[in-house]
Amino acid sequence: MTHSGGRAYCAIPGPTVVPDEVLQAMHRAAPNIYSDEVLALTEGLIPDLKRVACTDGDVAIYICNGHGTWEAALANLVAPGERVLVPATGLFGHGWGRMAEAMGIEVDVLDFGLETPMDPGRIEAVLKSDTDRKIKAVLVTHVDTSTSLRNDVKAISDAIRAAGHPALLLVDCIASLGCDRFEMDAWGADVVVTGSQKGLMTPPGAGFVFFNEKAAQTRAAMTRVSPYWDWAPRVHPEELYLYFAGTAPTHHLYGLRTALDMIHAEGMENIWARHDRLARAVWAASETWGQGGPLSLNVAHRDHRSRAVTTLRLPAPDAARLRAWVEDNTGVTLGLGIGMQRDGDPDGAGVFRIGHMGHVNAHMVLGALGAIEAGLVALNIAHGAGGASAAAQHLAQASPSHPVQNVISGAA
Ligand SMILES: *Cc1c(COP(=O)(O)O)cnc(C)c1O
Repeated sequence: MTHSGGRAYCAIPGPTVVPDEVLQAMHRAAPNIYSDEVLALTEGLIPDLKRVACTDGDVAIYICNGHGTWEAALANLVAPGERVLVPATGLFGHGWGRMAEAMGIEVDVLDFGLETPMDPGRIEAVLKSDTDRKIKAVLVTHVDTSTSLRNDVKAISDAIRAAGHPALLLVDCIASLGCDRFEMDAWGADVVVTGSQKGLMTPPGAGFVFFNEKAAQTRAAMTRVSPYWDWAPRVHPEELYLYFAGTAPTHHLYGLRTALDMIHAEGMENIWARHDRLARAVWAASETWGQGGPLSLNVAHRDHRSRAVTTLRLPAPDAARLRAWVEDNTGVTLGLGIGMQRDGDPDGAGVFRIGHMGHVNAHMVLGALGAIEAGLVALNIAHGAGGASAAAQHLAQASPSHPVQNVISGAA
């Protein structure tokens, strides 16, 4: 007998849980894309998207996933034969670099491994040694979803300035936007890319590229940009089809409208605080389990951990066994380990991930942690007892206490 009836919970780091309100907004008849209504809907999304990224710049919307936004950013800014610097802290950083290479771009990878964040000092040193100013852009992954490392984008932007280097700073915020605190303009990012299916709580299929004036000028100086990815005609057009270089992703727009309403009703500061508290609950549980067994957090220092995803190590094959047990017996699906293969574990069966990004609250995170604890017990995997209750205690302490109203008559 299993206990997986009831509503399933996919706690993987994207696509994330889509709120019922968003699904309901998408469940409607196809609109006439030549109507003013859909144009107004699209125009109304722009300022609210920009508030999520904390930017006064522009945003181009694409019908694509996160990989599409990587290509869009590069296509607008870097020609074949030009050079970029790719500091990497996991699979996604390397992936963006490989895509640049496939586009004919010269790529210098600065590999920081899988357990420590980017060192802005090393980035500064590389830029200083680039005396011919060949490096046109630095491609940074804010949160690498494979390792759950979070990089200090502000410090990297300061490092580029300290080197006196003109390179653009391009940031992959696909895992972090709407989860981890991120402030595009204040932190000095020139381009930010994200997708619809993580912190934006909408199904996969819409991609967003935010860019500032410096990036717009770089685009204007390009001799050729592939027409579908060209962001120039997509911003401030008069006609709907120009926003999307063709038919609009109509139902995504309705869903996104509702998602952005929910995001701004909660407020960016509150969203960042919620993700911070829930992440710390995950860490509290994981650290407790780790005290009595081999489970460990991939990222040792709290300052370097994502608030959207947590990568955990449990020597192979136990991470894979645990994931399977939890999925089969509790209705919770955990994330696979990706890009974490090492000697002796070619399949990455010693790594799993918990996604806690987007539409998540305390009961979902506590449920996932309780399910993991049940799995550790059921599979006889050594672990420190009381992980789930350590998470509960963290949330109890971190939450505002409400005055208890005594409704029992006679007490007054
Ligand atoms: C999910 C993710 C991607 C890839 O997005 P797709 O929509 O799967 O193409 C890239 N970078 C990061 C950091 C991600 O989390």
